[in-house]
Amino acid sequence: MKYISTRGQSPALSFSEILLGGLAPDGGLYLPETYPQFTDADLTAMRGMHYRDLAFAILSRLVDESDIPANDLRTIINKTYRAEVYGYVRDGQNAEDITPTLKLEDNLYLLSLSNGPTLAFKDMAMQLLGNLFEYVLAKKGETTNILGATSGDTGSAAEYAMRGKKGVRVFMLSPYQKMSRFQTAQMFSLQDENIFNIAIKGVFDDAQDIVKAVSNDHAFKAQYKIGAVNSINWGRIAAQVVYYFKGYLAVTQNNNQKVSFAVPSGNFGNVCAGHIARMMGLPIDQLVVATNENDVLDEFFKTGVYRPRGAANTYHTSSPSMDISKASNFERFVYDLVGREGAKVRDLWASVDAGGAFDLKADGAFNRVPDYGFVSGSSNHANRLHTIRETQAKYGVTIDTHTADGLKVALELRKPDVPMLVLETALPAKFEDAIVEALGHVPSRPANLNGLEDLPQRSVVMDVDVNAVKAFIVANT
Ligand SMILES: *Cc1c(COP(=O)(O)O)cnc(C)c1O
Repeated sequence: MKYISTRGQSPALSFSEILLGGLAPDGGLYLPETYPQFTDADLTAMRGMHYRDLAFAILSRLVDESDIPANDLRTIINKTYRAEVYGYVRDGQNAEDITPTLKLEDNLYLLSLSNGPTLAFKDMAMQLLGNLFEYVLAKKGETTNILGATSGDTGSAAEYAMRGKKGVRVFMLSPYQKMSRFQTAQMFSLQDENIFNIAIKGVFDDAQDIVKAVSNDHAFKAQYKIGAVNSINWGRIAAQVVYYFKGYLAVTQNNNQKVSFAVPSGNFGNVCAGHIARMMGLPIDQLVVATNENDVLDEFFKTGVYRPRGAANTYHTSSPSMDISKASNFERFVYDLVGREGAKVRDLWASVDAGGAFDLKADGAFNRVPDYGFVSGSSNHANRLHTIRETQAKYGVTIDTHTADGLKVALELRKPDVPMLVLETALPAKFEDAIVEALGHVPSRPANLNGLEDLPQRSVVMDVDVNAVKAFIVANT
């Protein structure tokens, strides 16, 4: 399997060749040359498989034997998807399921994706990336310095995945005193020598701009082997395809049945993996894109117009991990939608990258969206609090604010006879303040995370200063 760029002007590369990088050289995102197909017989064989075997069945079709030998891939997967790593399950759920389902009522389920070390779904893919990075770097005899910016969830998932990994250092920038106490403690309490937390005296966009400036200094980037683990990384998307299969198989008895998924969305990474699962032959009816007040995606699926908002017009909401001004992974879906024409995608993103918008209604491509199962809706602060309260009252289940956005839209758009799985993207313990506002009490948290905020913390504080960050990287490599 080779990987090609959505902008059609980069050479086709193998899985491990694109693993450590971000964008393709032509500015596009990588996708498989063709989607492997899972037949009726394949799906039948997958029924009853453990998550690890399912992951191997899928990922071995995306990674060539000559690139990563099957035995090695198997070992990496087995090391990643263990019950001990994804152990923060609810009472009655089995951690061995890795992504257990929770039935709310007939044809309505949560697919629990946030039982990993940082209580958000990003662990599902990032933990695999950590093990893949270590393997590929050792094979090439190389090292990498991962530089990233986070408003909370990505940074912690990356650090817990990369801590102690040979050949990898992580330099993670976050806005000084702007993350939740829980998120701050999660990251800053790590004492591993290869993890560096840098608190920037500014907002998230300042941190993000520093990362961009350092990455645009090509000489520095090459000399200090600067790498990325942001959400456009193909390895993350590939890992996320697996739990769509797992969820489908968990709630169906035969392959004639279809299910729908509702996905709390920001950068479009998670739901893009659902799209790819569907393209691979998984019988998915609807892919429900749920946004918060930052509804750039909802606008597209309702009107055909994609109009990124810019940092100044991005709202800070109570589902903060979906507060995005543009949806980085959206380009992957549009590439498929316009018939995989790189020239067309280059055209569309020329206007986006110049701060503009595009409209796919005029040229007919938008009419094909229903063929891909996509529908959408949005949610706001009041909706989210209401959904958290209703879910508690009706089912006795506490959900977090992002999952509440997904459930709110799922309830509006679901078909009565099609099972709907709402992706649970974080546990409520991670966003205590909103839960207190909705329910009047603090959500329970995994026992061994009690007192997390009292652990000694380790971080450096810096001004918004690219050179200071570069000097810090130089001094610590
Ligand atoms: C990152 C994140 C999302 C958004 O996922 P995308 O892949 O960016 O669409 C939703 N919920 C939570 C809790 C997250 O951390």
